[in-house]
Amino acid sequence: MKAEILAVGTELLLGNIANTNAQFLSERLADLGFDVYRHTVVGDNGERLKKAFEEAFSRVDLIITTGGLGPTKDDLTKEIAFEFFNKKSVVHKETLDKIEAYFKKMNRPMVESNKKQAYFPEDVTILCNDFGTAPGCGIEENGKILIMLPGPPKEMKPMFENYGIPFLEKFSDCVLTSKILRVMGVGESKAEEMIHDIIDNQTNPTIAPYAKEGEMIFRITAKADTKEEGYKLIEPLETEIRNSLGIAVYAEGETTLENVVGELLVKKNLTISSAESCTGGLLAGTLINYPGISAVYKEGAITYTNESKVERLGVSEETLKEHGAVSRETAEEMAKGVALRSNTNIGISTTGIAGPGGGTKEKPVGLVYVGLYFNGEVKSKEFHLVGSREKIRITTVLRALEWIRREIIK
Ligand code: ATP
Repeated sequence: MKAEILAVGTELLLGNIANTNAQFLSERLADLGFDVYRHTVVGDNGERLKKAFEEAFSRVDLIITTGGLGPTKDDLTKEIAFEFFNKKSVVHKETLDKIEAYFKKMNRPMVESNKKQAYFPEDVTILCNDFGTAPGCGIEENGKILIMLPGPPKEMKPMFENYGIPFLEKFSDCVLTSKILRVMGVGESKAEEMIHDIIDNQTNPTIAPYAKEGEMIFRITAKADTKEEGYKLIEPLETEIRNSLGIAVYAEGETTLENVVGELLVKKNLTISSAESCTGGLLAGTLINYPGISAVYKEGAITYTNESKVERLGVSEETLKEHGAVSRETAEEMAKGVALRSNTNIGISTTGIAGPGGGTKEKPVGLVYVGLYFNGEVKSKEFHLVGSREKIRITTVLRALEWIRREIIK
């Protein structure tokens, strides 16, 4: 089936935000076997929105919109779509109850315009919003399918995954089942090369690889009559990929590296502390994303100056003088220092040159050392990273977390 994505929002046209929703939906629709023919963006303008529906439906049978489902006057997507399909809206009791409960919980008064979000024609499929108030909906009429999703990506993505895809499956003669494998510590081209033959030889299931913020994601999608059969088709392929990539497969499904590391630390009851220079608290902040981390994470120090590294972590002045702040030796003394002073099983440290300036020929921008103290033993790793200051700091955190993970499961 041919599809188009229609993003609604003046903010998009003004360049205030990037259309990441279209990127996400295109990627997912391609996985699911839909051909995406066009992305369109229209502002919050009824006339142009109506025209956009007419034009897109003259070309394709499936349109997915994002944005414009909110309570304000300029949120027009539903109104215009129902007009296009010639449908009258009535209040959807269940949705109204949910919106009322939401405002009660937030201890905020619900104004009349919020009720607008609960109006739908009777014969549409309501797509639940588990992360906000505006529900989406799916309409099918005379072979034309429209799915309307909210603008905020945090609401849009789970709505599409959990309710949008099952709605689409109704119009397909098969069920789509997919599984995500997350890979860390192998470069994009290397990972693809390792499973090149597996990818090339597949038609059902298919494998779609993506590189995302320092990690690789492999999404395996199978077409079958039932979910169960789909999983059966996925299983041998998953085993093959896992055999090729080994320890680099760090998780499956929607999770993060910090969640995986956090779970491992708690499970093994390994306490941890951190000492950061170039990452300036980002490592601690990332670890703390994991909700159960308080059981094992004790403390962190941001030791940016040499003086602070000496005073707070006990790094020796001689080490700093001889090898510099960005060195294996300093990274190791930082990791050991923080672990011993905090009395934790693990001490992790970062020191490096995040740029953009400040590098030398011997120590260029992107040179980073991570130190790891693990139950009495201290080691360090040298990395040569590329990209902006932000990218170098984020990659340093990922490399440090990945090292902790590998050390724990060794
Ligand atoms: P709400 O109920 O929050 O008003 P909505 O469906 O009306 O949701 P919009 O008001 O259009 O959505 O957008 C809300 C926010 O969602 C925007 O400010 C922006 O941060 C984000 N957003 C909207 N469209 C996109 C898009 N295409 N890509 C990425 N983010 C988007």
